Amino acid sequence: MRLRFLVRSNVSRSGPPVGAGANDLRALAIACLLTLLVVLAPLACPAQQASFETLLTNGPASNRLNVVFLSEGYTSGQLPAFLKDATNAINALLSHEPYTEYTRYLNAFAISVPSPQSGSDHPASGIYKNTYFNSSYDPITDTLITIPPDAEDTNYADGQGKVDALLQTFMPLCNLPVLLVNEPFYPGGSDGFDRTALASVAFPMSDILTHETGHVLANLGDEYDTPYPGFPDTEEPNTTRQTNRDLVKWKAWIADDTPVPTPPTSQYANVVGLFEGAHYHSTGWYRPQLNCLMRSYGGPFCAVCREALVLAIYGKVRPIDSFSPAQTDFSVGATQTVAFSLNVLEPLTHSLAIQWLTNAAPVPGATNQSFSIPTALLNPGTNLVSATVRDTTDFVRNDPAGLLTQNVAWTLNMNQPAASRIDSPLLLDDGQFAFRISGPASARFTVQTSQDLTNWMLLQAVTLADGPIWYTNAVPLDAVTRFYRIIPQP
Ligand SMILES: [Zn+2]
Repeated sequence: MRLRFLVRSNVSRSGPPVGAGANDLRALAIACLLTLLVVLAPLACPAQQASFETLLTNGPASNRLNVVFLSEGYTSGQLPAFLKDATNAINALLSHEPYTEYTRYLNAFAISVPSPQSGSDHPASGIYKNTYFNSSYDPITDTLITIPPDAEDTNYADGQGKVDALLQTFMPLCNLPVLLVNEPFYPGGSDGFDRTALASVAFPMSDILTHETGHVLANLGDEYDTPYPGFPDTEEPNTTRQTNRDLVKWKAWIADDTPVPTPPTSQYANVVGLFEGAHYHSTGWYRPQLNCLMRSYGGPFCAVCREALVLAIYGKVRPIDSFSPAQTDFSVGATQTVAFSLNVLEPLTHSLAIQWLTNAAPVPGATNQSFSIPTALLNPGTNLVSATVRDTTDFVRNDPAGLLTQNVAWTLNMNQPAASRIDSPLLLDDGQFAFRISGPASARFTVQTSQDLTNWMLLQAVTLADGPIWYTNAVPLDAVTRFYRIIPQP
């Protein structure tokens, strides 16, 4: 919901203190001290008054979309009701796609902070409440909720500043702050410009809150026809002025037999096209589907808005939670098996696609979270073992930034074993001879001899130390030609 304040209220809720006389230094010093206390007070409040609760935990905050609800207009006695409202709110959000499918990608928390009075300001009716974040409904329609800095109070520290301070204290990794306003009888939502989604707990809070998350998370635009004079003509992922089919940003969703622009008839009620009326214009601006939660309450997001939200989720949550080995560059021996594993996220009704690769070649059938490979199958020197995890959801057709794919790669340095060989033959006295045997440390061989290279006779078993050894024949040479070889032993 985006509406502009057309009338600036003249009501001042926190007028500046009257200054002390300029020549009264003592009074000035006291005034300065009071000012300092006033400045310090809001900074001290959150830690003293606020409490932090976990509503839903699906994994580490470092790799989840963290939703944080904050209480506005709840007195200390009403804070238990806030926790109930916040629980209902996260459940309501998770009942809408794509949040349902990606439930396990979300965590939810609540920051309870009391307000002196219950409710919120209604300037249209002359009602003002003393609340923690100083929220206010708009003075014209009485449906749009904002917090300072806004037309009623331009001081950041009175509203958004308190939100930011509480998040910094309790959940700096918050991705989606939601201010729940304790107004059971006044439906209201926030301005799409806000970094914080605001929603009253009044019916239909579920749809309003979900709509607001479209603004905050995915920068979705309103698909309303209602004029909004002066609103910037900037296109959003779900709004456009483009009517050339090939240039429409959501063309991947438009079937060839769907006309562009698309008539708003029942024949096209459930397909993606190019429907006139969006971005506060009834003509000249277009939206993807006839109906969408960014246009009216009571239904789902359209396919294009849903896609934008999935991309937004993957902009904050990566498909791979963790992997093993944690070290991605290490040495391996020539005769070991190396085990790898991934922890990947799990959408509700489909699995992420996994493919393991060695030296950039997919390994047939290696599509599980675990993968092992004997180094004997690798090349001497440097090898690359990698895994690609991809979400192949039908919700997304455009992913130019590759947000739905994540790769992890390990560099394996396999030490080349020293070559096994015999060399340096020497003739000794009395028919003796010797040759040198080289190979990997601790390698075991049998020394064999043959006259015809077909029938071999065992002469001796030898084991190398750290370097080559010399073999000397125990039996004097006979008159025939002989060949010698070494055979590695396990
Ligand atoms: Zn939409």
